Amino acid sequence: MSDFIREIVAADIAAGRMVRPVTRFPPEPNGYLHIGHAKSICLNFGVAAEFGGHCNLRFDDTNPAKEEQEYIDAIQADVRWLGFDWGDNLFFASDYFEQLYGWAVHLVRGGQAYVDDQSAEQIRETRGTLTAPGTNSPWRDRPVDESLDLLERMRAGEFPNGARVLRAKIDMASPNINLRDPVLYRIVHASHPRTGDAWCIYPTYDFAHGQSDAIEGVTHSLCTLEFEIHRPLYDWLIDNLPVPSRPRQIEFARLNLTYTVLSKRFLLSLVSEGHVRGWDDPRMPTISGLRRRGFPAEAIREFATMVGVAKADSTHEIGLLEYAVRDVLNRTAARRFGVLEPLRVVITNYPDGQVEDLEVGNNPEDPAAGTRKVPFGRELWIERDDFMEEPAPKFFRLAPGREVRLRSAYFITCDEVVTDSAGRAVELRCSYDPQTRGGDAPDGRRPKATLHWVAAGHAVPAEIRLYDHLFTRPDPGADGDLLADLNPASETIVREAMLEPSLAETAVGETVQFERLGYFTPDPDSRAGALVFNRTLTLKDTWAKVQARS
Ligand code: ATP
Ligand code: MG
Repeated sequence: MSDFIREIVAADIAAGRMVRPVTRFPPEPNGYLHIGHAKSICLNFGVAAEFGGHCNLRFDDTNPAKEEQEYIDAIQADVRWLGFDWGDNLFFASDYFEQLYGWAVHLVRGGQAYVDDQSAEQIRETRGTLTAPGTNSPWRDRPVDESLDLLERMRAGEFPNGARVLRAKIDMASPNINLRDPVLYRIVHASHPRTGDAWCIYPTYDFAHGQSDAIEGVTHSLCTLEFEIHRPLYDWLIDNLPVPSRPRQIEFARLNLTYTVLSKRFLLSLVSEGHVRGWDDPRMPTISGLRRRGFPAEAIREFATMVGVAKADSTHEIGLLEYAVRDVLNRTAARRFGVLEPLRVVITNYPDGQVEDLEVGNNPEDPAAGTRKVPFGRELWIERDDFMEEPAPKFFRLAPGREVRLRSAYFITCDEVVTDSAGRAVELRCSYDPQTRGGDAPDGRRPKATLHWVAAGHAVPAEIRLYDHLFTRPDPGADGDLLADLNPASETIVREAMLEPSLAETAVGETVQFERLGYFTPDPDSRAGALVFNRTLTLKDTWAKVQARS
């Protein structure tokens, strides 16, 4: 599938401007990657692969105050899990600090940068507005040698944070505020995850980014629309520095999703304030959260293809992502039996102590998935809401006197309901028809309902975490308060689910379908004897229906 970026790359190759494109994915290691980053990753790695080039993974690690090794590690794991390989092309902007500093000196020598002694606040106040020009700093025309000396002493650690900055000398009256003598270096006395205490001045994003692209021979520097206004500065720096190549910045629209917030800063606050279980909480839109939730990497890539790449901002329905997930899982997920709210069934005419292993298909969509043995016995668990003592109209499942099919097992008829003192059913006494083994009757009769079940004697208990959208509204924060829109029912815990024995062997990272209920995956919290499963998604979008009703 093509888009305006792929068209530009194809045209550049056709015109002989390059043979192979080089792209990069440039995360700042100040948080975990989210589904928006996944779009950028799929685009950058995808374009490079399609045109025979390569994509660098480059950490934009220029702000040690907010960056951590934990994030560097998590980002690499997430990109790899998504299915992309940067080969030897792992880079860090911090590897270029010496070169970048050299280029800063180059600008000062050429009269194109100066050390400004104004405070951050003074700089902000004199920057002007969209309609009014800024005013020159009193230090703007200080002698080159004085700026050189101060820059060296900034680097040597002689001044506290914020005492001085290095600014490019461009045009304080430019209609583009980014060209009004932008800051290139600031003093930050902080240990860097990679360079330690070697530096106490750090380049700004604007100074580091384009030059890092040029050092790496990046041909197409793809970024989101908020950088469009930075492009003249990107080009000014490339034009005025002796960089080894000339990258081109192209902007595309960032991904926005309903019911979702994609701001690292806000996601960090959810984690640090304990609103979620961590960056990888299954409700988080982070790649690690989606993974823990059971979303396959393939579905995320498919989703990125479906949303495409455009130049105008838009918001996609979260339902589209869920559609992609169901689409992949319907094809690939093994079918299993799990009962979330168990109700006991005793088959009174089934021999006491007898157990049969019944052959059950693993995936009707994929005959190659084969079958498995599921134990069946006299006592079973079925889903509580598959039974109604006084069935409502259109309720075709189990009720007194009614026959239903147990999937791949037998037909059973409910003969008697045992209730507790509150009148609630606690056990159904049923009889089975031995002639219906496997789920078909010789006389061709067909019950209206087929239920899933688990043999009580062999069931493994599990905790199941049911997830719903993290926010109650499609446009969280529209009223100004994101936290107020958090969905209090985004996680519901079912403590006594009963699962077929094979589910005890399901590995973390594998998502299965509990028949009739949805897709589920073991949580990393799961232990032998204390299983925990996350619900990835229901089979159908019940949420939309609930919303429509209320
Ligand atoms: P920050 O505010 O910390 O800069 P960020 O989300 O921009 O947050 P980066 O680590 O700078 O995080 O992003 C890395 C790359 O991912 C950038 O090229 C950025 O444009 C891209 N990106 C970030 N968010 C989205 C999004 N929602 N959709 C598409 N691309 C995105
Ligand atoms: Mg950014």
